[in-house]
Amino acid sequence: MPDNLIRMAVILADGVGHDVLPVATEVIQAAAGACGVEVKPTVYGYGAQRYLEEGSPLPEDVPGLVQDLASKHDAIFFGSAGVDPRVPKEVNCRPLLRELRRGLDLYVNFRPAPLLDRRFSPLLVDVPVDLVVMRENTEGKISSRGEVFKEGTPDEVTVYDDINTYKGIERICRYSFEYARSHGYPKVSMTDKGGGVGIWYRVFWEVAGKYPDVEAEHIFIDTLCAELLRHPDRYSIIVTNDIFGDILSDLCAGLVGGMGMAASGCIHPGRVCMFEPVHGTAPDICFQDKANPFAAVLTGRILLDTLGHRKASELIWEAVRLAVKEDKLTGDLGGRLGTRAVGDYLVETVEKLAKEGGA
Ligand code: NAD
Ligand code: MN
Repeated sequence: MPDNLIRMAVILADGVGHDVLPVATEVIQAAAGACGVEVKPTVYGYGAQRYLEEGSPLPEDVPGLVQDLASKHDAIFFGSAGVDPRVPKEVNCRPLLRELRRGLDLYVNFRPAPLLDRRFSPLLVDVPVDLVVMRENTEGKISSRGEVFKEGTPDEVTVYDDINTYKGIERICRYSFEYARSHGYPKVSMTDKGGGVGIWYRVFWEVAGKYPDVEAEHIFIDTLCAELLRHPDRYSIIVTNDIFGDILSDLCAGLVGGMGMAASGCIHPGRVCMFEPVHGTAPDICFQDKANPFAAVLTGRILLDTLGHRKASELIWEAVRLAVKEDKLTGDLGGRLGTRAVGDYLVETVEKLAKEGGA
């Protein structure tokens, strides 16, 4: 990939992706453009749109599709998969989302939750909150396999594997410490519910030993939930497995303003990665110009940072901060603007900041 070109697949998928992805794409292009980087988006209508046009949401060979997308692009920008009010309930893009995460071995699910303004926090905290959940994205319970025995009878038995490998834990822990170092975070907390006997505990401390400059701690998941409400400022990077990470990242998002703010990246350093807002398809508000584009825009910030365009990603961050300061907000954050108007403001602001030499 040449340093000054990003070939970006934009997969609108189901529901609200159609509202927020085009808007966020413009913001990404403006920020990258201001730093001499061209973003070339290719928009794909997989999901509900394809169903409406061709009768099925996805081609048959989804693994083949994922490999093809990865070979043609430098990054994949994905909406969300699930209910889209335009099509029957069972029609969705989920198999594609799953295959993107697993087929590309995107083992880091990076979910930052910075508090932009204390009025967005239900706790109205007076302390800075800047939480990052690093969720293992390829193993654990959710991504693993399960079996049902004697289904539908009173003797039904369901067994789900919980797969945790040395390789899987080592690489997500190492990524967390590397990120702490490169982005100035003081501490990495590992959370689980096995403590001193589990493989997570052993491997975490083994990796922590290689990063003496970053503080490390272990905390049980139940204790952490209470602590996050009482002292959210005491935590920064939290590394954990898929199921705890999934739950914790919604808790953290709730602490800083809700799903309209929550961005994420599915990352494997050095490979083609996928970036998606944490929220679902928002069937109650999609196609109405109501959705908050911040989650998708801040997902663009992660995309640019992961591809090494730190200055462009900072521009997006500064523009969102200004939008908050000047109340250019959608309804979920107490504002009056629509999706498109917030996006237009962000594009203008990115361009203005770049001219002033900001970020
Ligand atoms: P959701 O995130 O779609 O919506 C939860 C609430 O948050 C709703 O009130 C919605 O209006 C609001 N919301 C979501 N995004 C918003 C935004 N950008 N701006 C303002 N408000 C926003 O979750 P849900 O309702 O539980 O699920 C809806 C569908 O999405 C389901 O089919 C579910 O399976 C799917 N889903 C997909 C993903 C994913 O693709 N990663 C994640 C979660 C849910
Ligand atoms: Mn979730």
